[in-house]
Parts: sequence; structure tokens; C-alpha cells
Amino acid sequence: MAMRFQSSPPSPVAGKGAVKFTPEEIKNLAEQFEGQPPRDILQWAADNFSPRLAISSAFGPEGLVIIDIALRKVTPRIPVFTIDTGFMFQETNDLIAKVEAEYGLIVERLHPELTPAQQAERHGPELFRRHPDQCCYYRKVLPLQNKLVELDGMVTGLRRSQGESRKGAKILQMQETPAGYRYVKINPLAAWSKEEVWWYLVSRQLPYNALHDQGYASIGCTPDCCTRPTQNGEDERAGRWAGTDKKECGLHTFAANI
Ligand code: SF4
Repeated sequence: MAMRFQSSPPSPVAGKGAVKFTPEEIKNLAEQFEGQPPRDILQWAADNFSPRLAISSAFGPEGLVIIDIALRKVTPRIPVFTIDTGFMFQETNDLIAKVEAEYGLIVERLHPELTPAQQAERHGPELFRRHPDQCCYYRKVLPLQNKLVELDGMVTGLRRSQGESRKGAKILQMQETPAGYRYVKINPLAAWSKEEVWWYLVSRQLPYNALHDQGYASIGCTPDCCTRPTQNGEDERAGRWAGTDKKECGLHTFAANI
């Protein structure tokens, strides 16, 4: 269900976006793309949505695979953005700098309306600890929602095997924001396993976040209530908002599948 909190929401034009395809056509194409190489899916996206297409990445292993395939094998180049919550690990910033140098890329950073200090002043200290859904909405969902009005297609590294909340992910999915803006989410790695992703990264000696070697399976924001290392046998997202029912920041759930 879409989350709603009081803050400056974007005002996109209702019903605009991804007008080239109907939801039914996207469903059919998603079925046809099952089993196809990510490169072909990304090329289809570039052919149909560029320049209103971008890769959304938090620079986890999946995003790095997508960036490598897209920037080496797909034309035209697909731009990359990340959501800079103001709570990024230094290791994540270091990785972004490496990727920018490696691919000759400038990663666009989307920022929340308020800095962490301003948020603490307006909403009280450590909102991430008291109301993490609200914090994620201000710092992640709203910046993405603002960005989406520029796009007809958004590529993500979502995988079905990342957990219960992601097991229904399709390779293509028409989505609609709470403000009525439609776009196509493209998940070229939906069917990949964690092992396939790491095999791709390691066999090509691609850079990855140094925190993975310190036991962090999934890396988000710096507060210890939002990201902690995982133990052997734990679910790969068990270190995110550990000890709470929260499993998703909202980026993959705020828009409705249509
Ligand atoms: S992951 Fe934590 S710090 Fe980051 S936006 Fe969500 S609640 Fe806030």
C-alpha cells in the first residue's frame, strides 16, 4: 500500500508517462523476456525509452552487474542515478567514485528536501529509529517520485530471490505512482540468483562495496538500526531494519503494479 506522509509531494501530470505501451502489452513482453539475456532486455529498453530511461542503483552487487552490461553492451548509454539519503556509508561513496572512473560516467545524486540536520530539527532526533517508514519516505521515496516524472522507463537490479517481498517481481512491470504517473520498471536480473550475480562480478573483477567483505550482505543507510552485518544462514536482507517488521524502504512498493 502506498505510504502517505505530510511533506512537499511532487505534482506530476496524472496519466502521463510510458504512453507507448499498454499494461497488457507490457505483461506480454515481460513473459516473452523470461529467460532472455539481460543485455537484450536492456537494449529493448534503450530502443524504446531513451532518453527517458535511467538506471536506479544503490550500488549493490545487482546494480553493478546492470551498469556493467548496460554501459559496455547497450547503445545509447543509459544514465545512472542514486538516491543520496545523506546517510550513505563512506565505502558506498568510494565505490561510486570507482564506478564513475571505470565507466566514464557521472552518477546523478537525488537528494531529499531536508538535510539530516534539518530533518532532526523539524521531525525530532533519529527519525530513522522512531519512524523508519516516515524517514524512508522523506529521504528515498519522495526524491524518486520527483525524478520519475522525467522517465518512461526505470531499470533496477531487483531479484525475486532477494526475499518474500520480491518474489513476484516481473522482468517488466507497468507501475503507477500515487500521483497517477505511469512508467515501466525494468528488472533484467529478476530471475538471477545471488550466486549468479557474484559470479558475474568476481569473474570480471568488477569493483564492489568493501562492506560486503565485512559481513554486510545488503547495504543501505549508516544508522545501525537500518543496516547491520548478517550472520551465516540469515536471509540476505536480514540486516536491514533488523528486529522490526520493516523489510522494504518503499522504493519498490510505493507505486502500484497495473
Ligand atoms: S534506511 Fe534508515 S536512515 Fe535511510 S532513509 Fe530509511 S529509515 Fe532513514
